[in-house]
Amino acid sequence: MSETESKNFIEVMIDKDLETGVYDTVHTRFPPEPNGYLHIGHAKSILLNYGLAKKYNGKFNLRFDDTNPTKEDIEFVESIKADTEWLGADWEDRLFFASDYFGQMYEAAVKLIRKGKAYVSDLSADQIREYRGSLTEPGKEDPFSTRSVEENLRLFEEMKDGKYGDGEKVLRARIDMASPNINMRDPVIYRVAHMSHHNTKDAWCIYPMYDFAHPVEDAIEGITHSICTLEFEDHRPLYDWVVRELEYPNPPRQIEFAKLYLKNVVTGKRYIKKLVEEGIVDGWDDPRLVSIAALRRRGFTPESIRMFVEMCGVSKANSVADYAALEYCIREDLKPRAPRYMAVLDPVKLVIDNYPEDRTEYLTACNNPDNEELGSREVPFCRELYIEREDFMEEPPKKYFRLFPGNEVRLMNGYFVTCTGCVKDENGVVTEVHCTYDPLSRGGNSPDGRKVRGTIHWVAAKDAVTAQVRLYENIIDEEKGVYNEDGSLNLNPNSLTVMKECKLEPAFKGAKAYDRFQFVRQGFFSVDPRDSVEGSLVFNRIVSLKSSFVLPKQGEGA
Ligand code: ATP
Ligand code: MG
Repeated sequence: MSETESKNFIEVMIDKDLETGVYDTVHTRFPPEPNGYLHIGHAKSILLNYGLAKKYNGKFNLRFDDTNPTKEDIEFVESIKADTEWLGADWEDRLFFASDYFGQMYEAAVKLIRKGKAYVSDLSADQIREYRGSLTEPGKEDPFSTRSVEENLRLFEEMKDGKYGDGEKVLRARIDMASPNINMRDPVIYRVAHMSHHNTKDAWCIYPMYDFAHPVEDAIEGITHSICTLEFEDHRPLYDWVVRELEYPNPPRQIEFAKLYLKNVVTGKRYIKKLVEEGIVDGWDDPRLVSIAALRRRGFTPESIRMFVEMCGVSKANSVADYAALEYCIREDLKPRAPRYMAVLDPVKLVIDNYPEDRTEYLTACNNPDNEELGSREVPFCRELYIEREDFMEEPPKKYFRLFPGNEVRLMNGYFVTCTGCVKDENGVVTEVHCTYDPLSRGGNSPDGRKVRGTIHWVAAKDAVTAQVRLYENIIDEEKGVYNEDGSLNLNPNSLTVMKECKLEPAFKGAKAYDRFQFVRQGFFSVDPRDSVEGSLVFNRIVSLKSSFVLPKQGEGA
């Protein structure tokens, strides 16, 4: 693939800007509103903006778009910083808060008034809506639009000084009430709101509207390419109007791209907030969610998320990605990196009747057949082991090659064993499986060329580490779709399974928060950073080993 073919449409635009001298540098930003946790969609925006700055040797700002005092919270500021940093997007010393520019925004509004480009209106919110017209009807002039510059300056200052109540007066940009683009019909750019702000406290009782504030923020920071999502496409003429009328020397340019959506996955803050508040999930970082904090807690790596975002590509057309693609990325990332150890999730005892009672021997096991560098370890082996309950059946169906009376299997890295029967309790539940071993098959190698069809994993009972393991499914019932008719979520009752008495080989001892492993035959798991403590480990399943995902061909996206 040639250099030009691999460029996305934003890179093509940037190249042109640099070639024609519109800009001589690239300066991007990620501008989250601190009103919730970041999710996988935001990761796309972060990595896109940061990636462009890196690629063009430019700069990247993290800017909190905290101009709306109602919904914002310092808890979210901290979580957004942590998530952005974890993803590897380094803002260096360029961390900004839009609220620090309230003074400059006020001056910018005054400048518009002086130029006759903004006026104070007494219309109510409802009246403004009514006067605005519709897609088929032009708007009507605001009766207050004829106020003089002097009067507007005085009224705007009075708004700032707290003379008016909420909603009593607004500042509107004077653009074009007949514009086919409703955003251009004299949009409100400042409103009165007697509210305390998390940063500026009670310094202001007027606050700028997003469409005015955002271009000003970008211009103040010297942003060149202001990258946002498609829903702002119709607002671009207003963005351009603001930076033009304010006469910024080298104004930023807005470029829109399509949001990242995941099929059958909830990302909306409103829904997640409800799940948290109703106690259906264990906080914003519940591993079943796709907030960045949740993905991190579950055990995803920043590398896997980068790979996923790259696979999805950047485009102008909305599309929906598959969660299976994200799973593919984490498997690819962890396959060579994670040590592969044995863990029994649903244990039943396997007793080897012809193995000496007080003997323990150590068998060598490779830590990762895909990566020699991870070396090997010694695994204890003794007369009593744990195996998965489902690896034994008293009456097996056809094609079941694991343990059943009379059948011989390989204990991975261990010996060949032949099942001789089982012991059951009064309810008919199997409590012990019995077998004999072939001492000549040490290491799991056939002594005489005879073959076994099943290989199962196991853990020596004596040295086993007991741990809790959590298995996850989509929190949404995928069969039924995300939403019910009444707008509520279709929850999957089986989204969380807690296995409390799992038995792990001793190599797991000392595992720390976020350590990742492959549990042989079971999937990839990570130590839960919140609930796991030394001596009482808790693991989250990141992803199972089974995949239905087919890697798309180059250029098709995920
Ligand atoms: P949501 O409504 O999904 O909670 P938001 O758009 O209100 O998110 P902001 O804090 O305003 O959240 O978003 C910060 C940046 O992230 C914006 O530039 C926005 O365009 C971008 N962004 C938000 N959602 C996505 C997404 N799904 N894919 C890509 N970028 C996104
Ligand atoms: Mg938003």
